[in-house]
Amino acid sequence: MPTLQSLLDLLPPFLLAVPKKKTSHSRKRMRSANKGLKDKMNLVHCPGCGTPKLAHHLCAFCYSKLTRGWKKEAREGVPLVDSS
Ligand SMILES: [Zn+2]
Repeated sequence: MPTLQSLLDLLPPFLLAVPKKKTSHSRKRMRSANKGLKDKMNLVHCPGCGTPKLAHHLCAFCYSKLTRGWKKEAREGVPLVDSS
C-alpha cells in the first residue's frame, strides 16, 4: 500500500504551488493602485516642424509627410525630390 508521502514524491513540485485564498477584486485593485501611469518628462520640440514629440523618437507629423511623399512617388513614378 503506497503511503501519502510516496504519492506526493511522484508529483512535480510546481503542481502544488497554488494560492491558498482567492485574491478578491478589492485586494487586486488595492495592489495595483500604485502602479499608475507616470508623467512623460522626455518631451522635446521637433527640429523639423516644431510640434512636441518624444525624445529620440521620429516625429509623427514629419513621418506622415514623408510617407505621403513616398506613396505619391510610388503612384506616379516620379521622384518627389530630385537627387541633383
Ligand atoms: Zn516634425
